[in-house]
Amino acid sequence: MSRILVCGGAGYIGSHMVKLLLEQGSEVTVFDNLSTGHRAAVGAAELVVGDIRDRAALSGLFQRRSFDAVMHFCASSIVAESVSDPYAYYDNNVSGALSLLDAVRTAGVGRFIFSSTAAVYGVPEQDLIEEHHPTRPINPYGASKLMVERMLADAASAYGLCSVALRYFNAAGADPEGELGESHRPETHLIPNVLQSALGQATQLQVFGTDYDTVDGSCVRDYIHVADLAEAHLKALAFLDKHPGAHHFNLGSGSGHSVLQVIEAARQVTGRPIPAAIRPRRPGDPPVLVASNRRALASLGWQPRRSELREIVASAWRWHCDPRY
Ligand code: UDP
Repeated sequence: MSRILVCGGAGYIGSHMVKLLLEQGSEVTVFDNLSTGHRAAVGAAELVVGDIRDRAALSGLFQRRSFDAVMHFCASSIVAESVSDPYAYYDNNVSGALSLLDAVRTAGVGRFIFSSTAAVYGVPEQDLIEEHHPTRPINPYGASKLMVERMLADAASAYGLCSVALRYFNAAGADPEGELGESHRPETHLIPNVLQSALGQATQLQVFGTDYDTVDGSCVRDYIHVADLAEAHLKALAFLDKHPGAHHFNLGSGSGHSVLQVIEAARQVTGRPIPAAIRPRRPGDPPVLVASNRRALASLGWQPRRSELREIVASAWRWHCDPRY
């Protein structure tokens, strides 16, 4: 049985990871400051409430428990907020990761899985982004994640840390068994906002920009089911058994959908009208982000299984209709 520390395990993606690890028989400790996460989302895992920037709290945790691997999901992750308050992003995402990595080194844990992002690429030069595409982030969120990837590369050379950075495209959807889902307050992400509008819980849905050079003028993103993301983390851990060093992989479905296409899919899934207002572009948004997932398929043996757009929206809709949401 492996012992895994999941930092940020009370959050949206982290909680789906915790559920999968528990199902696989791992012993799981969650470390989370509950700033955006939810106590109930960690299920049967041990929860230690603390902040990764608190070095004393981390050192106490690593003295009490030993771990075979650390998965790091804690981050501030709202692009527009990172543009308006970059210091907060460098503090939580970069200083926080450094504090955690230092504790990991002191504790002698050799394997580390990091939640990175497609935002490290900036504005893509190709339709499908491969991992060797230049990394020129256009917002502090992407820059903060890229800095951590750099730290992981340096940590591999200097300290022998084995790591995988997983560059998520747009995480979406909810636990297929209906126990977990996305629940941010306030919510900024497209699919939850669309579904809140369908439920009549939000003010009118806003579409940020219809003047991009895309199929219908709205931004195109690659939506990847959160349960598919969680499975990729297990594959990444197994990959490190035979491949030391620092690695990075795109995690996306390989297909893009525009904002207007997502809204239309939600109208079909929910059977509700979902009126939307056209607004100016949101700062920091690249027009198109779609993954080539070839490297993850070939090297990790990973395959997205639930990332067809309608299936993503349908799973999120079931969660939004649940009283626990
Ligand atoms: N978006 C939108 N209305 C919303 C939320 C998002 O038009 O209420 C757009 C946003 O501008 C971007 C896309 O939907 O083009 C995906 O945004 P999201 O915040 O879900 O994820 P991001 O790509 O920023 O990580």
